[in-house]
Amino acid sequence: MNILNPALVVKSLSEINLKKYWETGKRGIILDLDNTITPWNEMELSQEAHVFLKEALDLKYKIFLLSNAKRNRTEAIAQKYAISYLAPALKPRKASFLKALELMNLKNEQVLVIGDQIFTDILGGNRVGCYTILVPPISQREFFVTKFFRLLETLFRH
Ligand SMILES: [Mg+2]
Repeated sequence: MNILNPALVVKSLSEINLKKYWETGKRGIILDLDNTITPWNEMELSQEAHVFLKEALDLKYKIFLLSNAKRNRTEAIAQKYAISYLAPALKPRKASFLKALELMNLKNEQVLVIGDQIFTDILGGNRVGCYTILVPPISQREFFVTKFFRLLETLFRH
């Protein structure tokens, strides 16, 4: 396996079938912050990320925010959802992923790593043997959604 290849590539968080992964023994998610669940350097989760996180928590997944961003913002978001975090994580360093696994008390094969960057999230997750999922950065996803609604508008105007 190429260490830079995600196990799965999706177009949005909503494509990730959390129930299916739970049935196959997954119990935890290591989640990136910037451009994965929040727009870069912002405090609020995207609506899609909020829904995703709620579903994951309802299913009893352990969620771990692992971010290369500054501690303050990561901490504030983690506290809002009562989840664990580590920042700055210096991804793709193995140590931060191993620390997350240890704090979640889960084995690598039980954990999904989800992020928007190959050289931090995917590389780091693969190095410790987790199941890695690449999502497009939020800016790009929002652009896609904007384009979609623009198209709808045009259709309904005529
Ligand atoms: Mg990111």
